Amino acid sequence: MSHALYFHIPFCVHRCAYCDFNTYAGQDALIPAYVDALVREIELVGQSRPLTAKTIFFGGGTPSLLTVAQFEKIFTTIRANFSLAPNAEISLEANPGTLTRDYVQGLHDVGFNRISMGVQSTHPDELRMLERIHTYSDVVDAALAARKAGFENLSFDLIYALPEQTLARWQATVKLILGLKPEHLSLYALTLEHGTPFGRWAQQGLLPIPNPDLAADMYEWASDFLEENGFQQYEISNWAKKIPKNLTGLKDLSGFDAYECQHNLQYWRNLPYLGFGAGAHGYATGTRYSNVLRIQTYIDRLSKTSAKANFPLSPAAVSKHLVEREEAMQEHMMMGLRLTHEGVDAQIFKKRFGADLIDVFRNEIDELMKFGLLEWVENETSEVSKTSEALRLTKKARLLGNQVFSRFVG
Ligand code: SF4
Repeated sequence: MSHALYFHIPFCVHRCAYCDFNTYAGQDALIPAYVDALVREIELVGQSRPLTAKTIFFGGGTPSLLTVAQFEKIFTTIRANFSLAPNAEISLEANPGTLTRDYVQGLHDVGFNRISMGVQSTHPDELRMLERIHTYSDVVDAALAARKAGFENLSFDLIYALPEQTLARWQATVKLILGLKPEHLSLYALTLEHGTPFGRWAQQGLLPIPNPDLAADMYEWASDFLEENGFQQYEISNWAKKIPKNLTGLKDLSGFDAYECQHNLQYWRNLPYLGFGAGAHGYATGTRYSNVLRIQTYIDRLSKTSAKANFPLSPAAVSKHLVEREEAMQEHMMMGLRLTHEGVDAQIFKKRFGADLIDVFRNEIDELMKFGLLEWVENETSEVSKTSEALRLTKKARLLGNQVFSRFVG
């Protein structure tokens, strides 16, 4: 079975006040040793089991702080230790403030075919409040440079429900960003995470808490507006453009006809992925695992000459959990129901778990259908059968996803 490969790059120029990711500012001096440790981890895991990788995703942090030469070193090691599927999706998460013209060309030449930029807003005051290092004009420059370099798959992340943000300001951001003709958009509501400066300020009453009704209006407006503009929503927070008919090579990649993020689809379909780097998570051979968080400890663990991998774990792994059948079925529902178009395919569920979805979760499904939160649909994308049915969220349930998912978790 093909795997997705995730690489965590935990370096940032500045730590944004709302961010709770495993990332560190002011540690750039460790980047060369970190790249060497990543290379070692790839070799150890890749050599412990021969596998095909269908997607590669560099996330962070700010992966675009690595040089092209450092990516080249990592890619050479990946190719030497994994088979790469033809047309594999190879994505980079990038901060638009770090993307110069030469650098973007280098990224394309080294093998990346998709860039996902953390844009968040097009308004200078909102970007300042989020403590982002880029401006909207950096985004425009980066997008133009990426197109010129040959990138045909660009994604932008935006954040809505910012403190004091009005619906009109959010609409202006979405409309402006569509002018850059992205293939993919991810829209996230601001969450005030515990342990972040934003979380603390909100608790102390120093930051106005976003109004949930207004946040819902922003989400619904964006959902309708993007659909009117040729995007298809495929996940609670993700929209993709249809692939033009002449780009058949890309169509073969997924069996779908839109620019869905193939890497993230692997997570939502509950399929295996390997995580590399400090704080990376993975799921393979029924085991969920995570690596040590701190950069220096990660480097130290990989630099020991006696280091060995016990697939899927590398010496950097600090936690592992064997997912039993019942828990796996619950997780499958929780993740699959995030797929707003595809949903959870009944035939795939049966093939994987040897049981009917409706028998395993009859009470939950009946109850949620009574409230109009779930629906059965024909699944045109099923890999198993053309006539398969899928269970998915109704449109009104998209804002209530967490309540629905929690019904499936014991
Ligand atoms: S750039 Fe992204 S990963 Fe880095 S601190 Fe800001 S939000 Fe977090």
